[in-house]
Amino acid sequence: MSRLSWVKTALEVGVVTKKYPYEDVEVPEGFRGLPEFDAVKCIGCTSCANVCTPDAIRVVEDVGSGVRRLEYRVGKCIFCGRCAEVCPVSAITISKEFELAYKGEVVHVIELRYARCSVCGKPFTTSKHLTHVEGKLSEVIRENVDLCPDCKRRVSINSIIQSAGAVR
Ligand code: SF4
Ligand code: SF4
Repeated sequence: MSRLSWVKTALEVGVVTKKYPYEDVEVPEGFRGLPEFDAVKCIGCTSCANVCTPDAIRVVEDVGSGVRRLEYRVGKCIFCGRCAEVCPVSAITISKEFELAYKGEVVHVIELRYARCSVCGKPFTTSKHLTHVEGKLSEVIRENVDLCPDCKRRVSINSIIQSAGAVR
């Protein structure tokens, strides 16, 4: 191809580059940018942190202050979108925001108050998580839902022993 035909082709195609950052850039449908957290919807179940492979979402159990804290760090995020997929209450939205250098380290912090075990008083989940779980269970299996795992185990074992004794 001669140089002249290259110039001709280029003139025919026109300008294909954008003057970014002076001009806005449209991202395609399905683009995964900054995850955004809704503190009102969040129940503190920790599912998002459990699936986040680079540990961009950290759960801090601040028992002294009586809160579970969720911290999202943009610097660690790989924008996979798994957190939004697993959130049971749709508290995470994957936005199209990609200009993140100015965001600093911690972007979102959510604090949720603990629920305490009705037997031993130990905090074992958040109040919002407990209310959410109670709402999902039928009345029969809702029994003992406000017990921590240790007390629940103890109560279950005692009731098995008692029923075994009643059978004999
Ligand atoms: S988008 Fe992926 S890497 Fe980023 S916080 Fe969610 S799960 Fe973690
Ligand atoms: S999965 Fe959703 S509800 Fe659970 S802690 Fe994460 S943001 Fe909150």
